[in-house]
Amino acid sequence: MRQLFSMVILVLVLGACAEKHKIPVYAWTGGPGEATDTEIKSKFEDYREKGIDGLMYNGGHDPATYKRVGAIAKEVGLEFHTWIPTMVQAKTPKLEAEWYATNGLGESALENPAYVPYYTFLCPNEEGVQNFLAELYGSVAEVEEVDGIHLDYIRFPDVILARGLWDKYGLVMDREYPQYDYCYGDLCVNDFKEKTGIDIKEVEDPSQVPEWKQYRYDLITKIVNQLAEVAHAKGKKVNAAVFPGPSIAKSIVRQEWSNWNLDAVYPMNYNDFYLEGPEWVGEMVAEETAAAKNGAPVYSGLFICPNPENKTSENDPENHGLLPEELGTAIATSMQNGAKGICLFTPERMTDAHWEAFEKAIYKQYTTE
Ligand SMILES: [Zn+2]
Repeated sequence: MRQLFSMVILVLVLGACAEKHKIPVYAWTGGPGEATDTEIKSKFEDYREKGIDGLMYNGGHDPATYKRVGAIAKEVGLEFHTWIPTMVQAKTPKLEAEWYATNGLGESALENPAYVPYYTFLCPNEEGVQNFLAELYGSVAEVEEVDGIHLDYIRFPDVILARGLWDKYGLVMDREYPQYDYCYGDLCVNDFKEKTGIDIKEVEDPSQVPEWKQYRYDLITKIVNQLAEVAHAKGKKVNAAVFPGPSIAKSIVRQEWSNWNLDAVYPMNYNDFYLEGPEWVGEMVAEETAAAKNGAPVYSGLFICPNPENKTSENDPENHGLLPEELGTAIATSMQNGAKGICLFTPERMTDAHWEAFEKAIYKQYTTE
């Protein structure tokens, strides 16, 4: 009898330990489209059972959507963060055409967006833009069911595309080219000249002017820190999807996120976009955990390959990503290099084989190297 009792205790203790050792997992997802509450709930329950703890949910700008979907997330026991792009905004009556960013050729991102039609980036310097964003994120942060606001596209357009995207767009981005370099609107050019005495339009190669780089890092940093105040004033968290590094983030999208007042950082450590293997994810995480301001936790963003059997024949990097057999390595190396957890892009891209590998990797205790 006593032996049986000990066994029961042992099982309970082991059970408790296994529970305790699950790593925190977030996921980027969105909707709701036409989904009913029941459909949303069963999807969220499935994610919860698989080991996901919180969602970065992309549901547009309407606070009512986040109230509805957030209530379901809470019911299921998921953390709920609203995932809304920041500097990329479609034209609305609330945004003036002249508030959009201008490239080195003098073209507006509204009229002539770089790379893809949706690259309609705003100028971070415009007060109207800052007010628009404060109002947008403020209205969503006010929703009771929202735990935090999640910033994305909180940057300039890619002045250099990640190496894995060059073929897709038929570009060789061996240096900064003016058509991808922002913002050369009057407001930015004049303000920069006033602050530094440099007329950037007179400079032959602006990429060689460190003050001009810093000026633009600081514009984005200012917006983030303003939005952090907006969220915090409403008792909510603020976090962001960022490019890796910040060494890479600075050089290709002008994000100096090591200066941002975030409660957590979600670097998109999407190795395939940089033509790197899963081990590279850990190298990035090592840099990221050291760089995050005030020791903010880093959740390593992992890009999942939706059709593993097609990866080698697939030309579009958007369809590349971690294979099931690479996922365990990416998770382990993230955790061993100091990540607090991981974030999946996306649960919808995960195959059965991915979920199997995922389950093996998340119920483990990792020690930092
Ligand atoms: Zn500007």
